[in-house]
Amino acid sequence: MAGLQDVAQYLNVGIIGGGYAGMTAAVMLAERGIPVTVFESARQLGGRARGVSCNNTQLDNGQHILLGCYRHTLDLITQVGGNIEQDFLRLPLQLTLHNHFELKAPALPAPLHLIELLAIRLGWQTTPTNSLVMLAGLMSAQGLTLKQRLSAARFMLAMRKRNFLLPHDVFAFDLLKAQGQDEALIQLLWEPICISALNTPVHKASAQVLLNVLRDALNRTRADSDMLLPRLNFSALFPERAARYVKKRDGAVLTSTGVEAIIARNDEVELRTARGSMHFSHVICAASPAASARLLREVPQLAPVVAQIEALTFQPIYTVYLQYPENVRLPHPMLGFDRCFSQWLFDRGPISGQPGLIAVVISAEGVHQELEHEQLAQKVVQELSVQLGITAAPLWHQVIAEKRATFACTPNLDRPANTTPLPNILLAGDYTEGDYPATLEGAVMSGIRCADLIFPA
Ligand SMILES: Cc1cc2nc3c(=O)[nH]c(=O)nc-3n(C[C@H](O)[C@H](O)[C@H](O)COP(=O)(O)OP(=O)(O)OC[C@H]3O[C@@H](n4cnc5c(N)ncnc54)[C@H](O)[C@@H]3O)c2cc1C
Repeated sequence: MAGLQDVAQYLNVGIIGGGYAGMTAAVMLAERGIPVTVFESARQLGGRARGVSCNNTQLDNGQHILLGCYRHTLDLITQVGGNIEQDFLRLPLQLTLHNHFELKAPALPAPLHLIELLAIRLGWQTTPTNSLVMLAGLMSAQGLTLKQRLSAARFMLAMRKRNFLLPHDVFAFDLLKAQGQDEALIQLLWEPICISALNTPVHKASAQVLLNVLRDALNRTRADSDMLLPRLNFSALFPERAARYVKKRDGAVLTSTGVEAIIARNDEVELRTARGSMHFSHVICAASPAASARLLREVPQLAPVVAQIEALTFQPIYTVYLQYPENVRLPHPMLGFDRCFSQWLFDRGPISGQPGLIAVVISAEGVHQELEHEQLAQKVVQELSVQLGITAAPLWHQVIAEKRATFACTPNLDRPANTTPLPNILLAGDYTEGDYPATLEGAVMSGIRCADLIFPA
């Protein structure tokens, strides 16, 4: 019987797309000694999480945030040479809607804190101390009545009791209402969490996926709910390091090299680019959903997969960057506004050493989409002035609109699997089957699954 090493010598994997999913698959396979070639159509790596240069300033296509529970992503960044504590500003969970609401994970009293440390040392991944922290946080949240705080805590306990699993998926709003969460509580607490995590309004979002995120972020160790704000741009944080890692192991990473066609044969797959064709034992298609559907449409056996991808709908994310004079600061590195165009504001001074640079994030669909970029920037400037008294005029601004930032994370979504009807063509990407909404962690996990399907560790 052929051993794994015998199989390995026949493997040669082409990866379409140098975003987080594609570069993850490349790292995992290169680590296992499998020859890989990554094709990226853009000039730089990173896809929907990439560095962008503007006015001689390093920005991202959108301000991203990672959670402490994104273990696969954090481990992978470390594997390719990153240092999590240096690469990120780590903030304990704190949701502040300016002048309206504040939820903080409180410091645990000494004995509970020791129990937590002991539990982590013993490797009990499911230590319940973060639940205690969360419940204490909910009970001391400012801006809620006692009744609202109690009903939020009861909701978390009820979900924990059922292991954060629903018998059938429903809209997040309907679950919250059924669980006694009133409109104000939904608006101040659950809607901002839902929009940040799922990039989908609470009326349209999947309750089950929201619970998956709550389970992983709020229910285990305290560090899982930490918010990690990157100090580096998103291309530098992982994909560029991953490319160096892959090249050191004899892999190839070809930027500005889009794949134009996939030709599937019984024992190999041909990828055509403007520079010529290459042949592979396996191909992982890790392009965005729209680009993947375009490429796979030409492979008749993959029609059912294409239909699944084409049924997805999408939600936007807008980021308004405002460069103020260097002395302008926010009261917290991350701050929310209630009932404004501006949802979350990030002060890039303490985050990435860019004083005066504020990134304002507007997630999911909304009336802001009807405004010209210039009008939207002016609205946001006005909001910062009214809410925070920032009267200085920005020196420059830049609006980056990602119109198809993520798939709309609606209930019972039929997401494509990583396998396809053709055993030598696989799919990776944040939109493929999984527990998570469209996130870096979801993208990374899909890349790992594809690598494992081709050549298990
Ligand atoms: C503005 C914004 C903010 C976000 N904020 C967060 C956040 O805070 N936290 C979080 O976890 N997630 C966030 N996300 C989601 C996260 O960025 C995505 O889930 C993740 O980057 C998707 O990675 P991917 O590899 O699946 O796809 P992509 O990043 O889309 O990668 C696909 C790659 O394929 C390339 N490609 C396409 N066609 C071809 C072709 N024919 N040939 C070769 N290459 C091709 C593309 O250029 C691209 O580089 C955000 C997304 C956006 C847009």
